[in-house]
Amino acid sequence: MKPGPDRVIECPHCKTLMRVPTLLSGNTLGARWWTDGRMIAPMLPSLPAITRCHGCECYFWISEAKVIGHIRYGLEEPPPEWKAAKRVRKLSEKEYLEAIQNGLARTREQELYLRTQAWWASNDPLRFTGLDEIQTPPHRSPEALMNLERLLELLDETHPAERLQKAEVLRELERFDEALRLLEFDFPDQYEKVTSLIRELAQRKDPLVREIG
Ligand SMILES: [Zn+2]
Repeated sequence: MKPGPDRVIECPHCKTLMRVPTLLSGNTLGARWWTDGRMIAPMLPSLPAITRCHGCECYFWISEAKVIGHIRYGLEEPPPEWKAAKRVRKLSEKEYLEAIQNGLARTREQELYLRTQAWWASNDPLRFTGLDEIQTPPHRSPEALMNLERLLELLDETHPAERLQKAEVLRELERFDEALRLLEFDFPDQYEKVTSLIRELAQRKDPLVREIG
């Protein structure tokens, strides 16, 4: 993994400076994947697309913020206020949903991104615990359930990756028959492993996110 220069951006509302890490190259060595589509790769950290200002707490898309400069370590001495700027951070489940409420989802892609991130965040506590010890399905808040319902509306069944994602949402909502029906489809070969795992879990009536081993 090779990190690139930190990009310095300013909050579109209050002009607080923030630093965005960049990546020149990475790879999926040692990566782990889960049935909900989340991948965690130590050599390929996922960079957030949206963040919350450290100063005024507003939400904004990082790509839409004004770039002030780049910190190239060892090449030139950056202004002290650049070095002092905090790094952008990932949002929590609650914050992704709040960003939607605040009107940040202006396109289908943006809404899909925010809702998928909120879903993944809600599954995160399950990812690293001993799933076999969990006897009851995770408790989802009414907001989290509404998020999944809206994801079902947004996802396009004619698109293989989205169809698979939809089947997984249905399985996690314990709508196993509907999940199985969506899996009856001619998926591309690379989906074979995850498709059979989700099918097997749905047949067992298991609603938990699982690692694709
Ligand atoms: Zn701000």
